[in-house]
Amino acid sequence: MHPVRSAIVVGGGTMGLASAWALARDGVAVTVLERFSHVHDRGSHGGLTRVIRQAYHEGESYVPLVQQADRMWMELGQRSGTTLLVRTGLLELGPADDPDFRRSIAACEQHGVAAQLWDSSELSRRWPFTVPSHWGACFTPSGGMLRVGPCFDALRSEAQAAGAAFHYGAHVREIHKRDRVGVVLDDGRTLHADAIVVTAGAWLPELLPALLPGRLQRLRRVLTWWSPPAERIDMLAQLPVWAAFDPAGFFYGFPWSDEGTTGLKLACHTTREPDAADTPIDPESVDRELHESDLAPLRRFVSERFPAATGTLAAHRVCLYTTTPSWHFLVDRDPDDARVVVAGGFSGHGFKFAPAIGTLVSDLVRDHGRAAPPAFARTRHLEG
Ligand SMILES: Cc1cc2nc3c(=O)[nH]c(=O)nc-3n(C[C@H](O)[C@H](O)[C@H](O)COP(=O)(O)OP(=O)(O)OC[C@H]3O[C@@H](n4cnc5c(N)ncnc54)[C@H](O)[C@@H]3O)c2cc1C
Repeated sequence: MHPVRSAIVVGGGTMGLASAWALARDGVAVTVLERFSHVHDRGSHGGLTRVIRQAYHEGESYVPLVQQADRMWMELGQRSGTTLLVRTGLLELGPADDPDFRRSIAACEQHGVAAQLWDSSELSRRWPFTVPSHWGACFTPSGGMLRVGPCFDALRSEAQAAGAAFHYGAHVREIHKRDRVGVVLDDGRTLHADAIVVTAGAWLPELLPALLPGRLQRLRRVLTWWSPPAERIDMLAQLPVWAAFDPAGFFYGFPWSDEGTTGLKLACHTTREPDAADTPIDPESVDRELHESDLAPLRRFVSERFPAATGTLAAHRVCLYTTTPSWHFLVDRDPDDARVVVAGGFSGHGFKFAPAIGTLVSDLVRDHGRAAPPAFARTRHLEG
């Protein structure tokens, strides 16, 4: 195969921007085609902020990857003169015997991530959470939040400086795999390149239906912002990013801030018992209205565990997860055509890794002999 000199990136969201950034840096002429705009609320990156954490209950093997991404975010922030990562620390809390909570602590121990372990009384002394006596907390100072808009701006401006071209309102209808690979746009134009990177987020199954038939699900998630009484704002603005392994589900939140939307951001990643949030949706017709059923688990959590957060609803956003069966990522080549590289299925926890994933995508595009990491291989997602 010839060296790869040009690539088209389909989807200019989180992983598309990061891939374009890495490819352009590595000398590839990149064209990014994005259906909507630079930063939008219709895919998976809406909602202004994202958690970054090294206490990784999803698997300790993610820790070196998040550490690599953390360094890259920091360096990118320094070069762009913008704060991308706000290191608030991460507070995790839950029953001491909760398997995910234990995995999180084990991931820290395994990788030497600095962590302080507190019992329930120490937790309640430090932060306004009300928990039973058998709960504990793990505080990792390395955790924090990423600012989505500034992260996107910084990736795009470095990619542009390295020659990448960005086209918005460019809807790709089809990936074209013949003697040359290319894409067919909505307006009928066909564009070719040496390689195609598909980072279409929730729309991946429509673009490559044979990749993992029936294995990628799109789920609706709601982010909320709350206005607590004014006298509590200073205290809530000092909070670390936090996450709770509650028996009802995995809840998380951010300090009070005026990052785009003023308020205390609060959400639920997964509930223990199946609920409406587990019903697959179609990204074209997803319900973006807010319903009382969206708020009920959050209200319950706040009243039982975090009464200081009680307030009036200020805003909400609907955002999409694209999940694999294991909730681990997919970064691999299309088995039909090795010139097509796919990064998707980020299962609600991919943002923090973006610069590291972009680097991996660039390596796969440029080095035909390189295999995808087994942890993210397509075949893994066919199992079970
Ligand atoms: C509510 C919520 C909370 C989250 N919280 C966290 C968190 O705290 N920490 C964390 O690390 N991760 C978090 N995530 C996950 C993270 O945001 C996602 O994993 C990440 O944004 C996925 O990036 P992506 O590039 O796959 O998707 P996107 O960023 O959505 O990008 C895909 C892009 O492709 C474009 N596109 C699609 N089809 C086409 C087409 N045919 N032609 C042209 N363009 C197309 C879309 O318009 C979109 O811009 C969260 C996700 C959600 C929804």
